[in-house]
Amino acid sequence: MPQTKILLDEADIPTHWYNVVADMPNPPAPVLGPDGKPIGPEALAPIFPMSLIEQEVSAERWIAIPEAVREAYRLYRPSPMFRAHRLEAALGTPARIYYKYEGVSPAGSHKVNTSIPQAYYNKEAGIKRIATETGAGQWGSSMALAGQMFGLEVRVYMVKISYQQKPYRRSMMTTWGAEVFASPSRETQAGRAALDADPDNQGSLGLAISEAVEEAASRPDTNYALGSVLNHVLLHQTVIGLEAKKQFEKVGDYPDMIFAPCGGGSNFGGVAFPFLADKAAGKQVRLVAVEPTSCPTLTRGHYAYDFGDTAKLTPLMKMYTLGHDFMPPGIHAGGLRYHGDSTLVSQLYHEKLLEAVAVPQLATFQAGVLFARTEGIIPAPESNHGIAACIDEALRCKASGEKKTLFFNLSGHGHFDMGAYDRYFAGELEDYAYPEEAINAALERLPKVA
Ligand SMILES: *Cc1c(COP(=O)(O)O)cnc(C)c1O
Repeated sequence: MPQTKILLDEADIPTHWYNVVADMPNPPAPVLGPDGKPIGPEALAPIFPMSLIEQEVSAERWIAIPEAVREAYRLYRPSPMFRAHRLEAALGTPARIYYKYEGVSPAGSHKVNTSIPQAYYNKEAGIKRIATETGAGQWGSSMALAGQMFGLEVRVYMVKISYQQKPYRRSMMTTWGAEVFASPSRETQAGRAALDADPDNQGSLGLAISEAVEEAASRPDTNYALGSVLNHVLLHQTVIGLEAKKQFEKVGDYPDMIFAPCGGGSNFGGVAFPFLADKAAGKQVRLVAVEPTSCPTLTRGHYAYDFGDTAKLTPLMKMYTLGHDFMPPGIHAGGLRYHGDSTLVSQLYHEKLLEAVAVPQLATFQAGVLFARTEGIIPAPESNHGIAACIDEALRCKASGEKKTLFFNLSGHGHFDMGAYDRYFAGELEDYAYPEEAINAALERLPKVA
């Protein structure tokens, strides 16, 4: 029988993270301050420990993973890779389909890969509390868990719509000892201003970031932690791609195409970047970021400097953006609703080393249900985006007879998103393409940078 699960030993947990900056054709565009001039590392010191700031600006190819972090990773890493025999059979495709399953982490997604080192480095720096935001709750729960592991207090600003729609993610955070606030909240100036302007404000990730950053910047014992977008977050996520390369070696195969859902770009960067190193060395591999048509950052956004948050508290980053005041439609892939994208993913996409596609909501659920009915695992709505694009390619292979090797990152399970599946089965979900006018209008409000 051909192998279904491709497993590694704990000794195979990577000893180093891979930093893609070392292999980029051009250095990353600098982060700019409010005056439009590049900021130095010290500008980030009020909210991040120096060890993470050093990683944020590092150009070293390999960065050692601290032993305490590898030890915590052992709780669920290496994560399994699967060959999707049953999905292949259902599709009747000659393509070979593999997926890496990150839902085995205690919080159910890849985000724990970075919450653990972030908690570790903050603890080392003498920090007592972390303030952070969460959209659908995956990041907040991952940070709550890691805070508990390393003895940090965690305060989570949760986008109000998700706070109401996903009560069990809130319960997970509470179980792991975190305090959770619906954002906008009355805890911060940014939150109070939003509520005064509109008491029914349902919140957005950008606004929740403003609240958490404000709290972290105003207290010396408190730092901020971000679950995606930043270079150090993508760095930590490269454990996914590094393990996957070993797993492909074990079965003597190599992917022609890799797919991953893309919100801020962390699981996509994490799975894709280690393969980009091979591409830089001349290997053929296509790396495809998959986003929703309702939040088409890479496929239709502007490549420009923009703020990371609604209240314009963050420095300016060059990225694909729909505008910092983007108010996302209420789609069910909450983790894919951010207005911007990782600067590394953005630049590599701009330089055509990465690809991107957008898929409509109904197609993502259709793909997720087919996956659940063949492979068993019920995917997170975010993960369904990568699956949908992979299935499309597998069907193209069926039409052409090509025997490609396809690989996607199954970033998390959907056990706390069953309400979204219920609504899909009830016929209540819709496709939504973000309107062109809104994209053009956002251009007017982007910060002016020389
Ligand atoms: C947060 C999340 C995403 C999107 O975030 P990225 O930073 O783009 O990876 C995708 N899938 C799952 C399961 C998530 O929790």
